[in-house]
Parts: sequence; structure tokens; C-alpha cells
Amino acid sequence: MLTQLAKGKRAAAYAPVLAVLALLWLGQALGQAASHTIRKGETLGAIAKKYGITASALAAHNGISNPNRINVGQKINIPAKSVTVTHTVRTGDTLSAIAKKYNTTTSAIARANGISDPRKLKPGQTLKITKGTNSGSKSTRPKPAYIPADTLSKINRPRIRRGRWKHIVIHHSGDNTNSIQGMEHYHRRVRRMENGLAYHFVIGNGVNTGDGKIYVGDRWRRQIRGGHVASTALNEIAIGICLVGNFDQRVPTSKQRSSLKALVARLRARTNVPYKEVRTHRHINPKPTACPGRRFNLRSILNS
Ligand SMILES: [Zn+2]
Repeated sequence: MLTQLAKGKRAAAYAPVLAVLALLWLGQALGQAASHTIRKGETLGAIAKKYGITASALAAHNGISNPNRINVGQKINIPAKSVTVTHTVRTGDTLSAIAKKYNTTTSAIARANGISDPRKLKPGQTLKITKGTNSGSKSTRPKPAYIPADTLSKINRPRIRRGRWKHIVIHHSGDNTNSIQGMEHYHRRVRRMENGLAYHFVIGNGVNTGDGKIYVGDRWRRQIRGGHVASTALNEIAIGICLVGNFDQRVPTSKQRSSLKALVARLRARTNVPYKEVRTHRHINPKPTACPGRRFNLRSILNS
């Protein structure tokens, strides 16, 4: 039932208020957000005030688009009271790692500190960060970067020589129906590459490959050069990741995007390839190429 609550009678009893305060205190003591069941006569503004937060933060936290339309008996989550802290950037810090640490978003930090390019963080730079603005919010929380354990162990298994890899290069397969076997056959038999599949990794699209599934290629297992760019010297030092699909026609699936982001993060952690050396085929290739398609936006995926 939807109710207009603004005109309702305020509950005067103290017991529920004390109970709420106790719950709030307990929740904060435990570092958890509390929940609140809306009673008759309560407005979102009044509830927010009770918990020391703003009505808009409360609405955003619960995905409520119209604060005047809340239901009696509806359970809402109370975000932890926001606290602003100062963070000093250390070497190797990324905005997304900092955001994760303080349970906020990269865009919130960028906005609060006037950062236009998240890559240009300088060690020693101080950032004002409002903690907890991202807790529990379904609409703004980025999808967790998740790699299944068996895949992760394949990515982590090879020993990597220090400085072995200098770039990570992203491709599309150019066809929405590609399979791993088909790509392997094409590279080994048709293109006559003795090491088969030219990429170190392939990320499926759900047609003839698993949607978002990361296939770990033999070249990664053996830590040998790829065959994915038009330069032997570059192939020697560039990890190749191919997303199945034609991104002139469509965008990558959301699972492909989150797998790519997770894979790149894992590979960068293992190889120390800097963010700016995660490139598309088009941007690194010595010859013109459309790969990975004009609808593919690498930075928006990596910064999501
Ligand atoms: Zn390519």
C-alpha cells in the first residue's frame, strides 16, 4: 500500500525512539548499517534526521525515487553515518582501489576533489573522502570483480619473469559466433601459427562460448609471446586478451565487461603493467585496424 505520510500523526512514545537509537548505536559500533521499519506518520526527512543523514542520501541508498511515496511497514536500510577523512595517495594507489577501501565510488571521490583524469593521481596528493557513501546501494555499487577459483588458479599459476610484459592489448574476435575451437583452428591451421590460439586469454559472449567466461590460453600457461599484433617485437611483450563478438555491431555483454575489468586488474597486479599500457589493438598496432570495434570503450570498462 502506498501512503502519503507527511500529514500523519507523529508517534509520541519514547520507547521505539530509544530502541531505534540503541539499534543505531549498535549498528555503528559494529560498523554496520542499521535498518528501519517505516511507521505511520514518518517522513523520509524525519527518519533521515533521526539517523543524522540527509533525506536524499537515505532515498538514494534505498533506490527510492519519490521520497513522498513510502510505505508504512516498509523496511529501509540506514547507511552508516558518513564521515569525511583525508587520504594521502601512495605509489601504486588507484582511484578505484581507494574508493573500495573507503566504501565509496570513484566518481564521488573525483567530484569531491575536482579530479578530471583518474589516472593522474600523484603520490603525496591528499584526497577528501566521504566514507560509506556506497554501502549497500544497489544502484551505484559496481558489480564485484569476480573470477571463479579454477580460472584464477590458471591465471596465477605461471611464474612470470620480472618485467616480462609491458602491455596488455584488447581485441574483439570480429564475429559474434566464434568458438574457442574455431579460433584455435583458424590460428593454427589457416594462419599457420605453430603455437595456436594467438591470444593469451579469450572472454566468451554466451553464444558459442560462456558469457563472461575467461579462457586461459596455452600461451599464458607457457608465458610465450602472442600473435595478436602486427609486430614481432610487440607480440613479444604484449599480453593479448580477445573478447568474442563484433563490437562494431554491438557492445560487449555486461559479464564480458566485468570479467575484462577483473582480468586486467589481476594481470596488472601480477605483471606490473601500468594502467596506460592497457591498450586496444587499434591504439597500439603499427598498421591501421578497427579492432576492437567502434562501440568498444576500454576506459569506461576499466573505470566502471
Ligand atoms: Zn585485434
